[in-house]
Amino acid sequence: MKKGLLIILSGPSGVGKGTVRKYICSKKTVDFEYSISMTTRAPRDNEKDGVEYYFVSKEEFLKRIEEDKFLEHAEFVGNYYGTPKDKVEELRNEGKNVLLEIEINGATQVLEKTKDDDGVISFFLVPPSLKKLEERIRARKSEPEEVIKLRLEKGRKEMENAKFYDYTIKNDRVANAGNKIIEILKKKMSE
Ligand code: 5GP
Repeated sequence: MKKGLLIILSGPSGVGKGTVRKYICSKKTVDFEYSISMTTRAPRDNEKDGVEYYFVSKEEFLKRIEEDKFLEHAEFVGNYYGTPKDKVEELRNEGKNVLLEIEINGATQVLEKTKDDDGVISFFLVPPSLKKLEERIRARKSEPEEVIKLRLEKGRKEMENAKFYDYTIKNDRVANAGNKIIEILKKKMSE
């Protein structure tokens, strides 16, 4: 059986990765499973354990790093985030495509580890402008000013990473960005 694709969707904080990912999932025109990450961040309102994330304590997360349970992991403005390794491998070995929506440090680790794997396809989502990025981060209204500042500064530096990805996609409108990714994936899946 042909191994499933590993689809990486990354980009600066606040660029709209989550919204674009949800758009692609909702269209159901490309077949993939979304890899649910593990995090030490507290759940936001409406977030459920095992749906948006697996929410765990810092101790639990660090134990899993020790046990080499992550394909990648990163600390992001004070919390840990990671992709459970076994699940991704299991799905890909069953021929299923898996999508990771992760921040850039984690994506760099995955790109590094999968250099010789032609079943990997990576997308770097960029904002139409840095001003728009700031507006989006502020519109979430879920974080204190110092966290917003950290996210923004990180976002600015992160834009330099685009060159490491197969495709750079401008997120001017969610549907535009999402449809572009869907078209590229359809082509890749038919190869
Ligand atoms: P948030 O706290 O807003 O849900 O996520 C913060 C950042 O962490 C986002 O950029 C999101 O894409 C990223 N993220 C979510 N899951 C993972 C993961 O498993 N690994 C890494 N490296 N980043 C993740």
